[in-house]
Amino acid sequence: MAELSERMRALVQPHLAGIEPYDPNFTPTRINLSANENTYPLPDGVRAAIDGVLAATPLNRYPDPMSGALRDELAAWHGVTRENVCVGNGGDELLYNFLLAFGGQGRTLLVCPPCFSEYEFFASLTQTSVRTVRRDRKTLRVDEKATLAAAQTADLVIVTSPNNPTGDALPVSFVAQLCRACPGMVMLDEAYIEFADAGYDACGLLASCPNLVILHTLSKAFGEAGIRCGYVIAAADAIDVFAAVRQIYSVNVLTQAAALAAAQMRDAFVPVVEKIRSERERMLAALESDERVQAWPSQGNFLLVRVDEASAIRRRLRDEHSILVRDFSAVPGLEGCLRITVGTPEENDEVLAALEALLDEEA
Ligand SMILES: *Cc1c(COP(=O)(O)O)cnc(C)c1O
Repeated sequence: MAELSERMRALVQPHLAGIEPYDPNFTPTRINLSANENTYPLPDGVRAAIDGVLAATPLNRYPDPMSGALRDELAAWHGVTRENVCVGNGGDELLYNFLLAFGGQGRTLLVCPPCFSEYEFFASLTQTSVRTVRRDRKTLRVDEKATLAAAQTADLVIVTSPNNPTGDALPVSFVAQLCRACPGMVMLDEAYIEFADAGYDACGLLASCPNLVILHTLSKAFGEAGIRCGYVIAAADAIDVFAAVRQIYSVNVLTQAAALAAAQMRDAFVPVVEKIRSERERMLAALESDERVQAWPSQGNFLLVRVDEASAIRRRLRDEHSILVRDFSAVPGLEGCLRITVGTPEENDEVLAALEALLDEEA
């Protein structure tokens, strides 16, 4: 990746001198299983409903800053009031705003890596110190005891359930303990919660944990990564903070209209999510039956696998099979690991067959 020019390094804020422009290294491929998107078409009727509301949305007016109609629908969905919901331009914006508001110089964020790399990136942008309690090297699960101990002196915590890229979900009882242990705010990133078994969604804790912020997104289960819509659910005074620091027009009129239509039709997504869950189990069984592959169970729409020559396998999947998966082998603790998004049955068959063929050749 390109570094900043020497001239710019001298001009940006000192703590930003080391940043690099984001280069997604985007390669168009036939099958893209690299970003945990939902690769299924939108359920019947949803696309038509979205097209209808988009066509009817005037573009000359600024958006409703707090996405009122969408906010009400999301609140009704989750059994809270509109005062408990703030919508963002993707979950990423809300994660950034969380660090902007509650982090900063002299504050410490606790995370449990390997986890979503954006947390540490946003911490660095906002000059928030980071403390880590690493996951178990073998199981990749959170060290609950050590995390609870560290949380007592952290200013804020972000945990992920199900976690990207390890796939495990956190018991709700642990999240409750974490909220009690931490004197500051606790962000629970539930970007993949719709793919998890019943009983993992921690929304029921909001009434008893006033420092809990839960993040959801339409980018994964709801197949709309392109519209950029996420939301947080939290105590009303915490939502006031998100409302105060946000860029007022970050959620545009087309996003608000499309997200509202999708949220109203959320039940139509249940069969797709069920299909992805069953494909996930089918893929896991297939991968586990190959002794050259180590795979971890997952509550998300992706599987983490460890293979020899992971980077070569990833490159050959892309170059010889036009299949894109994500290489995590350079991440500490994830040596040899690739993350494969669960796609359609046809996509999954292709990636399984290609992986097996490449493992045969690399052996
Ligand atoms: C995808 C993802 C998000 C949110 O993504 P957006 O597209 O910005 O809504 C948040 N957290 C994790 C762990 C994710 O993988």
